[in-house]
Amino acid sequence: MRIDTMLAVVKDTARDVPGVYRMTSADGEVIYVGKSKALRTRLLSYFRASYPRDKGARILHEAATLEWEVLPSEFAALLRELRLIKLLRPRYNVMMKRDARYHAFVRVSRGPAPRFHVVRGAGTDETGTYYGPFRGALQLEEALRELNDVLGLRDCRLDQPMHFADQPDLLDLPTRTPGCIRHEIGKCLGPCVGAVREEEYLARFRAAKEFLEGRHDAPLAPLRAAMEASSDALDFERAALMRDKIRRLESLQEQFGRIRFALESLSFTYTIPGERPEDARSYVIRRGRVRHEGPAPRDAAERRTFEQRIAEVLAPAERAPATVPGHEVDEVLLVAAWFRKHPKELKRTEAFAVTAQTAPARSA
Ligand code: SF4
Repeated sequence: MRIDTMLAVVKDTARDVPGVYRMTSADGEVIYVGKSKALRTRLLSYFRASYPRDKGARILHEAATLEWEVLPSEFAALLRELRLIKLLRPRYNVMMKRDARYHAFVRVSRGPAPRFHVVRGAGTDETGTYYGPFRGALQLEEALRELNDVLGLRDCRLDQPMHFADQPDLLDLPTRTPGCIRHEIGKCLGPCVGAVREEEYLARFRAAKEFLEGRHDAPLAPLRAAMEASSDALDFERAALMRDKIRRLESLQEQFGRIRFALESLSFTYTIPGERPEDARSYVIRRGRVRHEGPAPRDAAERRTFEQRIAEVLAPAERAPATVPGHEVDEVLLVAAWFRKHPKELKRTEAFAVTAQTAPARSA
């Protein structure tokens, strides 16, 4: 389609309503997906953009077709845009990744000696488990280092070879990361040099995880004991050092608690009225992710069906409540940002009438 033909179609048919649009190249590749709460205005702006200076004009010049889809609300358009970008991965869409990069997450590494590490955004690992989102990656890193030190967990490169004490070929020990003396100074159990059994390392890792999830505060006990001992010995400098470490860890645990609370707070039904009563849509949001969406129920029978959907959404138990699976991170950020920018929308939400505990178990 020539640009002037596309312009004529937009002028003739596009309305200023929420929706998503996509531009596709001559060989059928979707090169860009966008959203707007006023489609016509947004689409016309591409034709006014200056070529080749403006990115919008460059995308338009590469496009052979321009299509759009009308949606009942801006929220629906945002959600649809996100899902289309995830599905089609258009090469001009870098925006969503940029959003995610502003946030720090704590990721659990894979492999025989797991560790926690701070990442920006969820990266390309859609299958990982992430705690977050947090602000302030540096502070987070510092507090995690404290936790690693107190529990003897490793903090070296992810690809560092590990060798546990209960592995048979102890003569063939790999070398540590150059410059790492954490084992010698008692800050790492030394899973790389056969100094600890796998089971013991994993027990320490679990203790760290339970601490972050607010299930106990065992890592604080040795620091508290060291602080008291230093204070009794009138070594106030060391006592102050221990106090600061305790504070950093307590603040880390609090941050994880806040994330848990924020994720749990983003659990409700959300109904957005449409232009006509039949356009109203209801969303079932659990832990920041839209798990079900459909026309808002208008009578008792539809209400019952909708409540059944809610029960299904709530049925699977979800453990480790400060975590977000990698593939859900962008959506959780979108939902959180939506209600942060539009707090009045919270008036359209409703707490679940059924809870995860009372919902029937979903059959496999
Ligand atoms: S002692 Fe080994 S396992 Fe521990 S941090 Fe250093 S290199 Fe990693």
